[in-house]
Amino acid sequence: MIIADHPALDFLNTIGAPKGEEIEWLENGADLCAWLDDVGLAEAGSLAETAPDKIAVQARALREQFRRYMNDGDPAIFDQVNSILAKEHSHLELLQTGEVPQLRRVWRMEKPEDLLVPIAIAIAELLAEDAPERVRQCNGPTCTMWFKDISKNNKRRWCSMAVCGNRAKAAAHRAKLKSE
Ligand SMILES: [Zn+2]
Repeated sequence: MIIADHPALDFLNTIGAPKGEEIEWLENGADLCAWLDDVGLAEAGSLAETAPDKIAVQARALREQFRRYMNDGDPAIFDQVNSILAKEHSHLELLQTGEVPQLRRVWRMEKPEDLLVPIAIAIAELLAEDAPERVRQCNGPTCTMWFKDISKNNKRRWCSMAVCGNRAKAAAHRAKLKSE
């Protein structure tokens, strides 16, 4: 479920029940590495094979702290993010690809804790820079998915048309049939 149009919100969405049953996408260290790669945040390198499951425990704790901020404004996320940011080690690399060279950030991936750095930066960027009115939760009545609305008209309502959008359409159709 990489649907949020912002990696920090996709991070919040790594637990959810888009089809009814709750799914935890960050069960263990390997899951965390695979997710970082899927969402395009970082390549885990050799950690993909060796990351211990306790780093997934830490990632989930960070995620739920972040959720408490998003839901209730709990400020504890600031200290948590800052303690991770203080350990950042990365550099930019200029890639000679295609017609225009590309700049990309290369992360130091030596210790399991290094896996949390790109996530903490994504959270910090979301909180510091993004338009808060564009950061919303899906309108699905029981859906917990978050997204950033990057549409021109700022009218996105659903985590995904295929899941909650269609469910709402079907419910509206049923209601209409009933009233006829
Ligand atoms: Zn939804």
